[in-house]
Amino acid sequence: MSDITHFITAIPKAELHVHIEGTIEADLLLTIADRNEIALPYKSAADILAGQSKGKSDPKQNLDSFIEALDVCRSVLRRGRDYEDITYGYLKRCQIEKIVYAEVMFDPQQGLRQGVGIEAQLEALKSGSLAGARDFGVEVQWIMSFQRDRPVEEALNILDAIQPYRDQIAGIGLDNPERPDFPNTFAPVFAAAKKEGYKLTSHCDVHIPNSIEHIRGCIETLGVERIDHGLNAIEDDSVVQQLIDKNIALTGCPTRYAFQSQTSPDDLAMMTGLLEQGVLISLNSDDPAQFGSGWLSQTLIEAQRTGNLSRKTMAKFMRNGFISAWLPSDRKAAYLEEFDRSCDAIRWKQ
Ligand SMILES: [Zn+2]
Repeated sequence: MSDITHFITAIPKAELHVHIEGTIEADLLLTIADRNEIALPYKSAADILAGQSKGKSDPKQNLDSFIEALDVCRSVLRRGRDYEDITYGYLKRCQIEKIVYAEVMFDPQQGLRQGVGIEAQLEALKSGSLAGARDFGVEVQWIMSFQRDRPVEEALNILDAIQPYRDQIAGIGLDNPERPDFPNTFAPVFAAAKKEGYKLTSHCDVHIPNSIEHIRGCIETLGVERIDHGLNAIEDDSVVQQLIDKNIALTGCPTRYAFQSQTSPDDLAMMTGLLEQGVLISLNSDDPAQFGSGWLSQTLIEAQRTGNLSRKTMAKFMRNGFISAWLPSDRKAAYLEEFDRSCDAIRWKQ
């Protein structure tokens, strides 16, 4: 193992942008599909990869087609037990990746449409994360991510329904296809969530029409504390300044939408550019089991290779994961101390 690979794999990491439905490894996906009697268009792990990879050569491949493929995998989730198993599976993987802290997104609407009540989802996520914390020493917080192509009323009703489970959810997010003017549309949801004390984040996908306007809307109208992706901010100095002034973090994903199993050099240049300008940006995996896009260590190793990034840059990206975490200051300080100690101890000659 090279010094670089060793440094990246051995260092304790935080992951802040990962969707639990995108972490289901092939064997578990097939097991869950089988026990729920869901017919998937795949028979083996190799089939899954081949099926998903077929789309990679399609020039029309985009966020919508990625979500379509992801829906095939998400369709197997029909019982609380499924959510418990996928949570435990991700946390098991965290131990290999040396992820010691994760903020994980889950999609309540997909589960509800598939007959899993919100209470069942939350109970299962809780028991899965307690078992994972016990067995693999990983701390987890949950972000409930609404689908912005679904009605606002649906999100408001769910927000109401989770009142009894308030302490199980750290934050509220938005994902799925980026509809025009979504920050204004979802303002009532974020206002209600803010009143309840939830942390707030939203996806602003990369190179979407009106990217800058949407990022600005998330900051000014939704009052987010974090933005998932948001790389187009680099095209507007005033937006970059807003991110810095308001201490709004970005969660970058070098293999965004996962069908890009390789790091996009252009995306990476936007991420390093934002980092250099002083934006609090971290690197994350997004949907690591989809399309063979890779778990966090692999994602970081690929990013380092693609941009020939220095040890200092990689350490800064990784350290930013802990700095951006929604944790009380003493917990954050403890993680940062552990990170800095490891950083000093692990060799990486360049
Ligand atoms: Zn995402």
